[in-house]
Amino acid sequence: MAGVLDDAEISRILSITAHPDDVDFAAAGTVARWTEAGIEVVYCLVTDGDAGGFDEDFPREEMPAVRRAEQVAAAKCVGVHDVRFLGYPDGRVEATLDLRRDLARVIRQVRPDRVLCPSPERSCQRIGIGQPDHRAVGSAALDAVYPDARNPFAFPELRGRESLAAWTVREVWIAGGPEPNHYVDMTETFGRKLAALRAHESQTGHMEDLTERIRTRLTLMAQQAGLPGGRLAEGFRVLDTA
Ligand SMILES: [Zn+2]
Repeated sequence: MAGVLDDAEISRILSITAHPDDVDFAAAGTVARWTEAGIEVVYCLVTDGDAGGFDEDFPREEMPAVRRAEQVAAAKCVGVHDVRFLGYPDGRVEATLDLRRDLARVIRQVRPDRVLCPSPERSCQRIGIGQPDHRAVGSAALDAVYPDARNPFAFPELRGRESLAAWTVREVWIAGGPEPNHYVDMTETFGRKLAALRAHESQTGHMEDLTERIRTRLTLMAQQAGLPGGRLAEGFRVLDTA
């Protein structure tokens, strides 16, 4: 098991994801546990998920506003009330210097002890996890944690024009990577995770088997974690970044 910081040492956590619903599929049960423990959690979404959805008749120009609203509603289901959108185009995210600067800015503004982000790696088990936007956001988020946010001389405009002091994130939790090394038993917050997922109606409204699909995946994670039967878990790769 990784040397994970005790939640009692954590005041703020910043979740960085590519699309509305990513954090809810990957980690909403864990987020609910964090907020229940009194930790402040902030969401940063790189895109509005404007290329998402399943209904071809749905007016595409309305999708960004719908998905933003869904993510804000889903966040409330797990105790998160600060949701920020960077507005990058869905499906075309690259780990550019601009994205690294924008993420370093949010890190310096929020000053989190822990960052949650997607994996920069491709998964050979589940192709959907390694979606290109996820990999780009995972890569840029890790670069923003180290070195950009903590190096006072990186992106000098952040410290100059915007008066944002350097900030060192102590720990990163990568969700959806190929090699989890830490599991959170979130059996008690499973209902809140489901509520958050259902809030993304434009994405999950057609999934009649949503509950069973999610329960199956979380049961498998709990088995990997060595938890007793009937338990549910979300898995992460935890990195010490202090
Ligand atoms: Zn996604």
